[in-house]
Amino acid sequence: MVRAEGGQNAIPEGSQRVIGRDAQRINIAIGYAVASLIRTSLGPKGMDKMLVSELGDVVITNDGATILDEMNVDHPVAKIMVEVAKTQDKEVGDGTTTSVLISGYLLKNAGELLDQSIHSTTIAKGYKLAAIRANEILDEIALPVKVDDDEILKSIANVAIGSKSIGLGDAKDYIAKLIVDSVKLVMVERDGGYYIDTEHIKIEKKTGESAAESKLIRGIVIDKEVVHSGMPKKIDDAKIALLECPLEIEKTETDARIEITSPEQMQSFLEQEEKMLKNMVDKIKSVGANVVFCQKGIDDLAQHYLAKNRIMAVRRVKKSDMDKLANATHARVVSSLDDLSSDDLGRAGLIEERKVAGDEMVFVEKCKDAKSVTLFLRASTEQVLDEVERAVVDAIGAVSSAIEDGKYVIGGGCTEVEVAQRLRDYATKIGGREQLAIQAFANALDVIPRTLAESAGMDAIDTLVSLRAKHKDKNNITVGVDVVNSKVDDMKKQGVIEPLRVKKQAISSATEATNMILRIDDIISAKPKSGGMPGGPGGPGGMSPGMM
Ligand code: ADP
Ligand code: MG
Repeated sequence: MVRAEGGQNAIPEGSQRVIGRDAQRINIAIGYAVASLIRTSLGPKGMDKMLVSELGDVVITNDGATILDEMNVDHPVAKIMVEVAKTQDKEVGDGTTTSVLISGYLLKNAGELLDQSIHSTTIAKGYKLAAIRANEILDEIALPVKVDDDEILKSIANVAIGSKSIGLGDAKDYIAKLIVDSVKLVMVERDGGYYIDTEHIKIEKKTGESAAESKLIRGIVIDKEVVHSGMPKKIDDAKIALLECPLEIEKTETDARIEITSPEQMQSFLEQEEKMLKNMVDKIKSVGANVVFCQKGIDDLAQHYLAKNRIMAVRRVKKSDMDKLANATHARVVSSLDDLSSDDLGRAGLIEERKVAGDEMVFVEKCKDAKSVTLFLRASTEQVLDEVERAVVDAIGAVSSAIEDGKYVIGGGCTEVEVAQRLRDYATKIGGREQLAIQAFANALDVIPRTLAESAGMDAIDTLVSLRAKHKDKNNITVGVDVVNSKVDDMKKQGVIEPLRVKKQAISSATEATNMILRIDDIISAKPKSGGMPGGPGGPGGMSPGMM
């Protein structure tokens, strides 16, 4: 490392500079350290991490993206690894641990090639070729799934949920079914295919009860109460107005003063206000609404008039919930009361305020042809509930991408073994130094079956050898690691399947991140403001998790 002295260097005084092979070594070590950190959390037998924030909040999870996010890593290379997980999360919703693991091992293997004096651009080129070929291989081995193949879709949901080690027990199948049903409800047909906006599946959760009490609601659950005790708490055949504007007399923006010099003036001022509020409620009533969801506040007096007219109202509803309500009930959100007409109203078979675990919640149900639905999750404690939610989000992503792409692959590491095997054949065809990089790429994919084997208490090397031998036979390409029974077995028969997109995205984002990191041969870090050595050879210590 070079510490710049004023004038001698083009870089500012006090900055640190690491160049060449040293820079690569540090970056590889950090990328690999991040992968090692989450390695034990892969798969259904993966271990959980308990993350304690500076404020003392506790998160227990084995979700790769969540672990990395909660850790607040601050080394730039560690941040790139976190980005890999985030991209995977955004594009697919599942496979975050896998993508970071592959990236970490691509880096580690690249380090070994660098030690053999193979240039980083050659490695990057080989990795790129390997990623392209891996993509083709994945297409070759993927199997088709149709939107009405409920059993396959349920298995995909089950595997995505099941790899989070939450003890859902018998409820797992039930939740998997809820997930498939909810994805199908919000799915739209477009250009001969299907498209799913997972935003339209709202997740609402409450502790208490067991996961088996979770429900799919064809409508929206709002975590708010009916605003006035005199209002009806249950309305059948609801006609719903969605208001973006407040049901209050808006105060002027500028400092205005109203001068009142006599009691009569005061009286008439109040009467005027009262009349305006009453007019607002009359307007709502005149269009035929019997339920109001308001994004802003509702004046006490307006509440009183609404209650008198038997209109149910909920105030300060989140913007995102307003959009979902519009989608579920086919209402239009209105920004000014003057514009409200009966055409803007939405419909729901039933709206009811219910008490759940001590809190009032408003259930908007039985919506016809609802394009937004709610998964209402229950579990015994806050921590379990949060992990159930993460598992459900992963599964929604997995089922959605399986439907959108119409393709799935087999899990339990068998896809990685098969892709690696075919990549090794491909490497010999390419020849040259790139061949070594392609082989290194194939070896990096082995981290998945190896880690799954270790998590099941099996010998990683023996398992890998046995898997490779099996995969030589074309009839055995679905053989993988059965972590539940700790043996090598046909994972297709076991129903351990995953959407094709999980594997494709993991390989492409891992390769991109790795190649980006490999191209760096100069780290210039500004003088740290207080202590610390950003980018310094503190190596993995460059991460400063709020944990550990
Ligand atoms: P990610 O964040 O990458 O999704 P997970 O912890 O969900 O990580 O683990 C996913 C891996 O676990 C996949 O490779 C998947 O095939 C594997 N897996 C899931 N369920 C099983 C199972 N029952 N047996 C073997 N492997 C499984
Ligand atoms: Mg997963």
